[in-house]
Amino acid sequence: MSVSARNSGYEGETGAARRERILRAAVGQGLLDPDTALLAGFVDLDGVEGTVTSLRNAFPDSLQVLHAFAAKANCLVPVLEELRRGGMGCEVASAGELARALEAGFDPAHIVFDSPAKTRAELARALSLGVAVNADSFQELARIDDILATRDTGSRIGVRVNPQVGGGSISAMSTATATSKFGIPLTDEGNRRRLLRAYRDRPWLTWVHTHVGSQGCPLDLIAEGIAQAVAFAEEINAHLGRRQVTGIDIGGGLPVNFADDETTPGFDTYVDRLREHAPALFSGAYEIVTEFGRSVLAKNGFMAAYVEYTKTVGGRPIAITHAGAQVATRTVFAPDAWPLRIEAHDPDGTAKHGRPVAQDVAGPCCFAGDLLARDRELPLLDAGDLVVVPDTGAYYFSTPFHYNSLPEPAVHGARVDADGRVTFRPLRPAPTADHAVPAVAVLAER
Ligand SMILES: *Cc1c(COP(=O)(O)O)cnc(C)c1O
Repeated sequence: MSVSARNSGYEGETGAARRERILRAAVGQGLLDPDTALLAGFVDLDGVEGTVTSLRNAFPDSLQVLHAFAAKANCLVPVLEELRRGGMGCEVASAGELARALEAGFDPAHIVFDSPAKTRAELARALSLGVAVNADSFQELARIDDILATRDTGSRIGVRVNPQVGGGSISAMSTATATSKFGIPLTDEGNRRRLLRAYRDRPWLTWVHTHVGSQGCPLDLIAEGIAQAVAFAEEINAHLGRRQVTGIDIGGGLPVNFADDETTPGFDTYVDRLREHAPALFSGAYEIVTEFGRSVLAKNGFMAAYVEYTKTVGGRPIAITHAGAQVATRTVFAPDAWPLRIEAHDPDGTAKHGRPVAQDVAGPCCFAGDLLARDRELPLLDAGDLVVVPDTGAYYFSTPFHYNSLPEPAVHGARVDADGRVTFRPLRPAPTADHAVPAVAVLAER
């Protein structure tokens, strides 16, 4: 049973039935409309709550753990607010994400700033706010030295290490290869010694960070990378003869199942694997930070778009919908690495149950490769139908690509009460009607 079904008060309702319930309510309440609201994202806020609870419960109460949501996975301020109310912190990787985290009301002490490209000004700001900082390189450490020469900070400061344990099935998502751009590589000649000296000379360097991800990485690879980081923390403390390293930030990167509605692997499985590979992490000697993004939001969101037209080309039916590369960029450009499910619905939101027919599901963008699915078996789509795209709560509609000046779609948060009634709250407003008219064209008409 999916996490969202467990929390809805609707015991036994499956993911697809819940999406159908939310979709029908959205059409009924005018949040989707074939003339004015062609595409929208939905976040199941009950589901998010359930997922955050399962993350919290996966770690023993005896440990001090801050679960910092990786903001890039879904950086809508109201979503961040929901997560903050659920007890999470926030991991940010740019000045823009930091601004949104602050707007969402996170205590700076619960924000972690990671990025391989932090500017001097960004570092100074984070250190003056008390935001935790993980240095990505020796050069960045030298910049932090310069800043701390003139002021104190309450920030927890660590170094991101790359344990170089190898990559997963998607090379663009693999952060712990021998030559990854992230962190200081632990096994490169001379680096361990240089890092030990860096910690010795900087008593304020009290954290070790690693993030082995992401989608496509097996759990054992992730756990082994974290084990290397934990072992290095132990090595630093042994070498210095004092407990200088007091915290380990183990990153995020738990892969998500895009094939069906099962939430697998769960956070409990992940923690079991961590216990096997890195028992010292559970000794109580270290505070822990996690940085999950995709696994918190992906399965708790879906998008829905109208089919504008259908046609048959070279014998294959094609549905032209309003969801394409602007909201499913990775799927369109790397379809084999990022396949998405598609569900066919009638104009009122009811699921279609016709005989499956192989068809292409295309988006509105003006290039031929703008396809959400190729040759996909689905009940035959008609103009005016709706397509639902599950598992898109992270890195999809929240992360739009501005091709063809297509607007960022509205995003609605949904909750289902014990009687099955759906209520919505806006998470991102609907685009204005004239969004696509460029300012220069308006001026030229004057
Ligand atoms: C992207 C990122 C995360 C989150 O990764 P997910 O796969 O979404 O869990 C966490 N930490 C860092 C440093 C990242 O860059």
